[in-house]
Amino acid sequence: MNNRQLFLQHVAQTSPAPVGIEIVRAEGNYLYDAEGKQYIDLIGGISVCNIGHRHPAVVEAIKKQADSYLHVMVYGELVQSPQVLYAKLLTEHLPETLNCVYFTNSGAEATEGAIKLARRATGRTDIICCHKSYHGSTTGALALIGDEYWRNAFRPLMPGIWHHTYNSRELIDAINEQTACVLIETIQAEAGIVAPDQVWLSALRKKCNDTGTLLVFDEIQCGFGRTGKLWGYEHFGIVPDIMLLGKALGAGMPLGAFVSSREMMMKLTDAPVLGHITTFGGHPVSCAAGMAGMKALLTDNLIEGVAAKEELFRDLLAHPEILEVRSKGLLMAVRLSSPEKVMEVLQKCLSKGLFSDWFLFAADCIRIAPPLTITEQEIRLACETIMSLL
Ligand code: PLP
Repeated sequence: MNNRQLFLQHVAQTSPAPVGIEIVRAEGNYLYDAEGKQYIDLIGGISVCNIGHRHPAVVEAIKKQADSYLHVMVYGELVQSPQVLYAKLLTEHLPETLNCVYFTNSGAEATEGAIKLARRATGRTDIICCHKSYHGSTTGALALIGDEYWRNAFRPLMPGIWHHTYNSRELIDAINEQTACVLIETIQAEAGIVAPDQVWLSALRKKCNDTGTLLVFDEIQCGFGRTGKLWGYEHFGIVPDIMLLGKALGAGMPLGAFVSSREMMMKLTDAPVLGHITTFGGHPVSCAAGMAGMKALLTDNLIEGVAAKEELFRDLLAHPEILEVRSKGLLMAVRLSSPEKVMEVLQKCLSKGLFSDWFLFAADCIRIAPPLTITEQEIRLACETIMSLL
């Protein structure tokens, strides 16, 4: 059997139609398959590879950390400088109220930690979240997923979860003294890129303040410069009480985090002690890689170029078959006539050396979320290719 056959046989499949291309190398804005074919990466590992694949500073940091130590002890007992220095760097770029980082292995685990923290800090149980939201696939996070199709198959789920429409008055009206937190994506990604209305977000913050409800922003997909600012919430000037990070946080290594004030985070040290436990969370190699990645994102000034690149994509993606382009920076959804049309175009894109994807709750949209390092020439080529296939 070749590797593709072994993949289908022995690597657990949850997609009925995996892309199934064997990747042998990834560098910068490109993926390379076993046949030597190269693909422009239009999705960056789903908003992970914001600084491109295998950034030299990240590779060097991984090697350096591997030479010192790998796993040494479960989370939070020993002082590990990659964790300490990365937490310091992150909090230097966050408001004073977000000054304490709990590192996890993944985005879903960050969601789980935030759910526990919000309940523990408020003494309340209810959580309000949104239709068409995605916060991870573990059972707690799954209770929050904004689609009955994915929830229903795994019932009974965690109780106390209420779904409302993003950007709706109804969501704000539903918040009351029983609500522990409102947990939303700052910019909805899997819904096919839906940004919050400024007035709505301000009213949401106010209602949370008035009722003692915590506001949690999931920045797992929209953080780290993807939307043209370091954090998605900066577009709106609204600061959350808890923030979720993942994906680009590890610069290509597995890493997640939930961030709050130290005072709030301390609730997890008391009654019960060890209120959240992880063996590998904040792995030193992941933290070393992530810190090198974040430094590169900042020193290479990658965020500055995002708005112009977004505009170029929007200018070029003009075609009668393109019904709409929704975007916030380089987080873009290109709406076509049907999910079938999207699948057909994605398949053809592969043969032309373009790697893209669709969205969980917007199957009629092509996902465009390339490394922020994508060049003007690559954007032109990608758009010409997509248009030629419509
Ligand atoms: N939150 C958002 C907005 C996501 O897009 C994702 C993953 O796609 C997650 C949470 C879950 O992250 P992970 O897949 O690392 O568990």
